[in-house]
Amino acid sequence: MARKMTRKNVALMFQRLCEHSPSPKTELYYKDPFTLVVAVALSAQATDEGVNKATKVLFDVADTPEKMAALGEKKLGEYVKTIGLWRNKAKNVVALSKMIIDDFGGEVPQTREELEKLPGVGRKTANVVMNVAFGAPTIAVDTHIFRVGNRTGAAPGKTPLEVEKGLEKVVPEIYLQDAHHWLILHGRYICTAMKAPDCPNCKIADLCLYKDKTKPGEKKLKKKTKKLAGAPKLRKVKPKSKTKRKATKKKKTA
Ligand code: SF4
Repeated sequence: MARKMTRKNVALMFQRLCEHSPSPKTELYYKDPFTLVVAVALSAQATDEGVNKATKVLFDVADTPEKMAALGEKKLGEYVKTIGLWRNKAKNVVALSKMIIDDFGGEVPQTREELEKLPGVGRKTANVVMNVAFGAPTIAVDTHIFRVGNRTGAAPGKTPLEVEKGLEKVVPEIYLQDAHHWLILHGRYICTAMKAPDCPNCKIADLCLYKDKTKPGEKKLKKKTKKLAGAPKLRKVKPKSKTKRKATKKKKTA
């Protein structure tokens, strides 16, 4: 059974994350709830940096549902084609813009139920929008939060929903609003997905229950090994056939 961090230590963990970064913010570029929905919809399986590059230009041209719907799928594709899965995402962004106009009077809805009706918007995107745009204390479990929740033992779970529900139970109320940002940033920069998370520089290492913590110096060692492993491989020499061996022997004795 997965080991669980005590509630007291979860509180301590968030206290430290809060001290380290008192006002955490999303790293996605957006102007308002609508541009946030678009940015989050575009960010699935892509980096915030890559999405921001595209949306900084896109939002100068289309920053309302009306302008986005008028832009259409093909032209929108020109702006977002550097982002993974862009064809499908462009289709969804135009469709969700039309739905916001037709069904929600041009305003981004504020409830999870309504947000999840928008094409391409799932529970995670709805949670981000509710949290960042409307100040709801939701926790949008992405790959980083899933990893940190499990490694630390703060909220172990087999699915993102299990981790989300687990975190909602143990995170003290005063930290709920920003919990999702702290965990994302911690997962992105310290408790990374690489084999060696930066445990020696982790502010919550003494509270974390992860069994395979990186030891001081271990990271360097791994990098070195990687470099060696990246060296050109020696060419394999095929053993000569019997006839070839005979021919070589003849040549030498001739
Ligand atoms: S100690 Fe290591 S595994 Fe635990 S949270 Fe910190 S970086 Fe992640």
